[in-house]
Amino acid sequence: MNIETKCLHSGYTPKNTEPRVVPIVQSTTYVYDSTDDVAAVFDDPTRSLIYSRFENPTVMAVEEKIADLEGGIGAMCTSSGQAATMCALLNILQAGDSFISTTTVYGGTINLFAVTFKKMGIECIFVSPDSSEEEIRNAFKPNTKAVFGETIANPALTVFDIEKFAKIAHENNVPLIVDNTFPTPILCRPIEYGADIVIHSTSKYMDGHAVQVGGVIVDSGNFNWANGKFPEFTEPDESYHGIVYTESYGKSAYIVKARMQLMRDFGCYPAAQSAFYLNLGLETLAVRMKQYCTNALAVAEYLESNDKVESVNYPALSSSPYNELCKKYLPDGASGVISFVIKGGRNTAVKFMDSLSLASNEVHVADIRTCVLHPASATHRQLTDEQLIAAGINGGMIRLSVGLENIDDILNDLKKAFDAI
Ligand SMILES: *Cc1c(COP(=O)(O)O)cnc(C)c1O
Repeated sequence: MNIETKCLHSGYTPKNTEPRVVPIVQSTTYVYDSTDDVAAVFDDPTRSLIYSRFENPTVMAVEEKIADLEGGIGAMCTSSGQAATMCALLNILQAGDSFISTTTVYGGTINLFAVTFKKMGIECIFVSPDSSEEEIRNAFKPNTKAVFGETIANPALTVFDIEKFAKIAHENNVPLIVDNTFPTPILCRPIEYGADIVIHSTSKYMDGHAVQVGGVIVDSGNFNWANGKFPEFTEPDESYHGIVYTESYGKSAYIVKARMQLMRDFGCYPAAQSAFYLNLGLETLAVRMKQYCTNALAVAEYLESNDKVESVNYPALSSSPYNELCKKYLPDGASGVISFVIKGGRNTAVKFMDSLSLASNEVHVADIRTCVLHPASATHRQLTDEQLIAAGINGGMIRLSVGLENIDDILNDLKKAFDAI
């Protein structure tokens, strides 16, 4: 099936007289015929359903769809994108380990990596997304167990050179984890370029309508966890009566372990109702992503021609330093998020934003409706000036998430706000 068809049909195939639409299974528990049946599921939880803290048929239909869209062998949904990032890494790392991340990642991700993981004894080694191969190689320590980056970084909009980072991660026998939230699998499928694990905040384009907060982890099934660096995968798990994940689950070791250990213990699983909403968004994802790209390119070109604008950052513009990487990894477009720096700095940026009427001021991005945000005073408020610069953020910078309104209405709104400054 082609990807547009997968958006509609993967993950759920109703049989004779079953509901056309994936049903909402609003139940915490599942019933068994006998005590033996229950015992068998505790021996191997992948055989059937136990409890909705870590598995649910509605959520699992969505997991299967997203795994199929990304070209993975399995997926696990989480109650937020933050929970997906956390579980994706904690499934590999423990106290005393380190991992490498690019500096241009989502603000919440930076807090998680630089502050919370540090408290847990896990070190994040930050490198520039533009690092040379040599610099990336030099960042590795003996205890480095993973590499992390965002395909299109939020909000810096740098494009991650997936193949380069994958190659060096693999030379060091560690997996590459890619946050693919902004492109979605419609615009880029990182597994095709060597990523081992792909994560998303499904709160963004995948949902699209701003109705649920969620995340997902997709396993490519390609990484060899038995290479000697990951004893948690190859030695008996005491918390699961001695299961050895690579032996019992082969290629699915990573995603099964994430569910059996982390989701069991943390319980950050989405509700069936949320998964149902997410699925509605996924059904139209392919159509929506194409239109976001078209609208955003028109807006980016308009901004670039406006003399009140100092600079426009959108990877699909030929002026972008990331245009070559964009052509390679995002040939169909760079999604709907643009950032630009307005002349006059922080105060002018705020005045401009408050003069918009169609575009709403919200702490969200990738909504179906056009919205704006001032990163320096919102999502990235917790960062030091140094971290702000490293994350590519300027006081006059505005993040504009172009929606699916008619392009003339979006442009007219911007023109009015420029007239007001
Ligand atoms: C929003 C976002 C996250 C965090 O996701 P939540 O669903 O808000 O927890 C992670 N990565 C990226 C790129 C994001 O845009």
